[in-house]
Amino acid sequence: MPNEITDMMRQREYTDAVREILSEKSARRGREYTACVVTYGCQQNENDSERLRGMLLLMGYRLTPERRGADLVVFNTCAVREGAEMRLFGNVGALVHEKRKNPDMMIAVCGCMMQIEENARRIKMRYPHVDMVFGTHTLYRFPEILLNTLKNGGRTFDVLDTKGHIYEGLPILRDKSFSANISVMYGCNNFCSYCIVPYVRGRERSRAPEAIIDECLRLMDGGVQEIMLLGQNVNSYGGGGRAFAELLYRLDRLGIPRIRFMTSHPKDISDELIAAYGELKHLMPQLHLPVQAGNDEILRAMNRRYTREKYLETVRKLRKVCPEIGLTSDIIVGFPGETLEQFEDTMSLAREVRFDAAYTFIFSPRAGTRAAEMPDDTPYEEKSRRIQRLIDLQQRITLQILEKQVGRRETVLVESVSARDENSVGGKTPRGHMVNLPGDRGLIGKFVDVEITSAGRNTLRGKRI
Ligand code: SAM
Ligand code: SF4
Repeated sequence: MPNEITDMMRQREYTDAVREILSEKSARRGREYTACVVTYGCQQNENDSERLRGMLLLMGYRLTPERRGADLVVFNTCAVREGAEMRLFGNVGALVHEKRKNPDMMIAVCGCMMQIEENARRIKMRYPHVDMVFGTHTLYRFPEILLNTLKNGGRTFDVLDTKGHIYEGLPILRDKSFSANISVMYGCNNFCSYCIVPYVRGRERSRAPEAIIDECLRLMDGGVQEIMLLGQNVNSYGGGGRAFAELLYRLDRLGIPRIRFMTSHPKDISDELIAAYGELKHLMPQLHLPVQAGNDEILRAMNRRYTREKYLETVRKLRKVCPEIGLTSDIIVGFPGETLEQFEDTMSLAREVRFDAAYTFIFSPRAGTRAAEMPDDTPYEEKSRRIQRLIDLQQRITLQILEKQVGRRETVLVESVSARDENSVGGKTPRGHMVNLPGDRGLIGKFVDVEITSAGRNTLRGKRI
């Protein structure tokens, strides 16, 4: 029997053992045990947190969104930029007082940041109130780690495993019943010079298409209307080439109403994938295609392995097969050595492509990556000025694109109730624009036809038709 399967069977036994201990302890104190999972970073991390919640539920915890008062708080961390790391240390530190109030309380820190030895060591030395630390590769061992800590009362550190296998069948408690994130691959082989992901998530490994299809069929039975396929670079799914497009064709035939995916590396986008946008009924006209920079020298220094012209050509091809496609992007400003002229190339690319939205970041040096060693003499204030200009430009473009939607009829998949008005709901158009419309909680997970009546800075307003 493959190791992964025996490993998983063992974890089920640990799950049962934790459940038993908790049930005894709850009976003794007359109150159930609660757990809260706090997530930082990308959708892959959100998806890992859904798995952590699935495991916690099976182990007998009641889940709560509120970390204060919870008996177990799990921080699922992100290492992509320094800001997220700083927030994590602040938030973990702030729980010292909570722990004093509740002697049963336990704290776990896991995920990408904990794959970096120095971070794990810092938690060990300076945050003695943290009980458990584990990395992305040992997430499946959470029941074992928790059982060990509950039984022995000490601290458990489990971050050494870097093999990064694929574990099918981990429990999962999904955030939404109508829309599901599905990881199709893990890790990354690209080593963009600024990026920590390949170091903390390991090498690329893809799930078998059959396992993904099975999962989709089960989700459809449960009423899922939309799937988001996840991977750091889905274009190299199954070793690259046509494999990802083939997976999409197979999934399209299942009849799931809406299929989306992220992220796509521009260097690997295949002609078959572009053609899929013209052919597949359920593939939504939306693509996140991070460009990172508009200047060839910077792209080379980033090790992105495409040129500005190649990127623009891909955009032209996509718009030819699918004129309505909404493109979004990630852009890094202030990469080491970026001159003002080179930044102007990024501005002109944003003007030329006209993204629906762009996520903009100031370069954040990550120890261990090549870019962190590159000379960087641009003052932070100058980088801030540049990013502000890019944000202003993108906001103008986004508003113009949204204004063009006014008067159109669209089908919206309703996702949520407005936090400010319980008689207003929000959902996305096929292109991914968020539309707010009158309605109540009962519409969540349903498709609603709307006419777009007005455009705001980031969202649309509509009325039901
Ligand atoms: N795999 C995806 C890709 O290739 O675009 C996304 C990975 S990363 C989690 C998301 C975004 O964070 C990247 O597209 C990049 O713009 C940004 N990013 C990654 N490392 C960064 C760094 N060191 N400084 C600033 N932004 C960074
Ligand atoms: Fe990071 Fe590049 Fe891999 Fe994306 S493709 S995760 S940016 S190394």
